[in-house]
Amino acid sequence: MPILAILRVFSSTSRHRVFSSFQKPMDNLAPPKPGARPASSFVCDKAFINGEWAAASSGKTFEVVNPANGKVIGSVPDMDATDTDRAIKVAYKAFQSWKETTAKERSILLRKWANLVSENIDELAKLLTSEMGKPLAEAKGEITYGGGFLELFAEECKRVEGNIIQTHIKSRRLLVLKQPIGVSGMITPWNFPNAMITRKAGAAIAAGCTVVLKPAEDTPYSALALCDLAKEAGIPAGVLNVVTSSRNNAAQVGKTICESPLVTKMSFTGSTFVGKLLLQQCASTVKKVSLELGGNAPFIVFESADVDAAVQGAIGAKFRCSGQTCVCANRIFVHESIYDEFVKKMAAVVEKDLKVGDGIDPATTQGPLINKKAVEKIEAHVQDAVSKGAKVVCGGKSKGGNFFEPTILTGVTNDMRCAKEEIFGPIAGIIRFKTEEEVVGLANATTSGLAGYFYSRDLSQIWRVAERLESGIVGVNEGVLSVPDAPFGGWKESGLGREGGRYGIEEYLEIKYVCMGGLQ
Ligand code: NAP
Repeated sequence: MPILAILRVFSSTSRHRVFSSFQKPMDNLAPPKPGARPASSFVCDKAFINGEWAAASSGKTFEVVNPANGKVIGSVPDMDATDTDRAIKVAYKAFQSWKETTAKERSILLRKWANLVSENIDELAKLLTSEMGKPLAEAKGEITYGGGFLELFAEECKRVEGNIIQTHIKSRRLLVLKQPIGVSGMITPWNFPNAMITRKAGAAIAAGCTVVLKPAEDTPYSALALCDLAKEAGIPAGVLNVVTSSRNNAAQVGKTICESPLVTKMSFTGSTFVGKLLLQQCASTVKKVSLELGGNAPFIVFESADVDAAVQGAIGAKFRCSGQTCVCANRIFVHESIYDEFVKKMAAVVEKDLKVGDGIDPATTQGPLINKKAVEKIEAHVQDAVSKGAKVVCGGKSKGGNFFEPTILTGVTNDMRCAKEEIFGPIAGIIRFKTEEEVVGLANATTSGLAGYFYSRDLSQIWRVAERLESGIVGVNEGVLSVPDAPFGGWKESGLGREGGRYGIEEYLEIKYVCMGGLQ
């Protein structure tokens, strides 16, 4: 493309509102609350670079589809390495002034951003449901959770402190400073299109870093809506940049971020396979890397457990987001003495309380899976389990489109795909066990180590098992654990580093030791 044409594309700052099929599902819903913007106003056909709405240098776009009905919501730029490189240069320039701001200045802007997210919660939730599919109530929960990171980091940035170390030489003073690490590259998945962004970008911006972020192909609109609100909050141009790309261009966008010497931090949430690839690519510039990768969470119900509470916990841990979260219960181990009771009660709840449908319908608890490929994978898991002797207690079938019935399988064994692999869908595979030692061994017999859950009323057992599970997050008598204030991250191949809480901001800080000598 001639350079003038490229410049014209880049300088195109107007956002084109796209009122296509997206508006239709909204028509039946309550209008936005006073002061809030309609969800459709967040749908645009541009990415966000240097505080402006930007097209791809190639002029290419890709379509975003509602997974519940297959309708096209709109199109966004299909950016490539050239666009990513531009965003990195912009972020690098913005970093030179952003790093000089005070924590208080950053805090005020983050708080404004959080407030705007909160004011627009209903509409952001509709947008999220339309592009990702999760039920509206869950989408609202995610926006609250996502805004919670902005609020948290608005506070945490004021608590970044260095220290002074005791000296053994009288003429010296030894100081430790903490400073922003620099331009931070980020790649996020589709299953939490809002919160995975605020959890990373909120921490980075609070620390004084600038951001170049690639959202998932399936869910760019929630990312762009956050840019829109960041701009409205007064976050300066170049501090937050979002490069949208199709799956075809994801590899080149990622490689450009990982190999750029101007980017000094990389944070990724997604599959373990891609995480390993990015870690290799980051080796060329020795970047600080955070990885939030896949899980294979054990959910253990011991004989002393409150079975009804354990069933409720398992429903939340398994079927939230139609099973498409990295902390979803993947292997449900139930003690042999309560196995039948647990299965019967869980099946009753699934059949009575879970309703599959378009997430925009307030009655829906189980939205669609993200795409056809995901449905095929779940079908293959059920077939594999049944062929190896598992029994389908309920569900087990596709419901057309991207919908799949919430499914319970009994007689699951460790050689089945649904026990060995991350399911990422609505299958609850239930495994029988006899002893604590046996089940803790089975729970840990995986290369993943993100979340683990167990139900028990035996205090000594609670301490023993909480300490022995090899995972970064443990739920004791709880099925839904994530909160902005707690550290989130995995052991083993589930990741590196932590997000959230006061640990999250540390990922975006460098430590500097200053030795001051010659003092009298
Ligand atoms: P994925 O395929 O790894 O995709 C995640 C992100 O990486 C998307 O933005 C994707 O872009 C991008 N990507 C894909 N291939 C790439 C490449 N070669 N180079 C650079 N970027 C690339 O994962 P997913 O299937 O969307 O998400 C599900 C996985 O994420 C699960 O394993 C889940 O456990 C994990 N997850 C982990 C956490 C956590 O905190 N630990 C949270 C949520 C999800 P495209 O969308 O354009 O392909």
